[in-house]
Amino acid sequence: MNAAKREEIYRRLRDANPHPTTELEYDSPFELLISVLLSAQATDVSVNKATRLLYPVANTPAAMLALGEEALANFIKTIGLYKTKAKNVIATCRILLEKHGGEVPQTREALEALPGVGRKTANVVLNTAFGQPTIAVDTHIFRVANRTRLAPGKDVREVEDKLVKFTPKAFQVDAHHWLILHGRYVCKARKPECQHCIIADLCEYPAKPL
Ligand code: SF4
Repeated sequence: MNAAKREEIYRRLRDANPHPTTELEYDSPFELLISVLLSAQATDVSVNKATRLLYPVANTPAAMLALGEEALANFIKTIGLYKTKAKNVIATCRILLEKHGGEVPQTREALEALPGVGRKTANVVLNTAFGQPTIAVDTHIFRVANRTRLAPGKDVREVEDKLVKFTPKAFQVDAHHWLILHGRYVCKARKPECQHCIIADLCEYPAKPL
């Protein structure tokens, strides 16, 4: 895909949604970190349901530690893999307090050293909490990038590297959200809604049913 097309795709996604953000509900970098950690292999809706009850009780590393692993697991038991996630959240909170003064660190290295935090979670936190131009590639972005040929790649890392390299500067901070939302609501996995897609004429998906 050439640069002019890429630019036009982002321009249209931006015009349709000038201020995109995550669908996870959060009020601080810490809440975002925990919500992203909980959202692995779970929907944002299921995470929000649990955290609406959890955060009023514990929304700092110290409060989470005081709550304890068992009580935390009880709050999040409707989310997949909740036992492992409860363990990781508690271990993460301990490190935040011991090494980072109770704050969420702003570097990839420090974030990825936290239990349960991989490259994707670090990218989301750096981007959404701290405004860094990282692009976390999830299943939706991977699909959209490959179908459209915006940034084709055989694995998430290749797609991420291409998106970071080829996304025009003006769109880098918000690209992550535009592409996720486009994949979640329009360019769906089983049945992309190409007839209602605002970038259909630019998309290079050979199988688009137009
Ligand atoms: S035209 Fe179809 S395949 Fe291409 S981005 Fe839109 S929904 Fe996805």
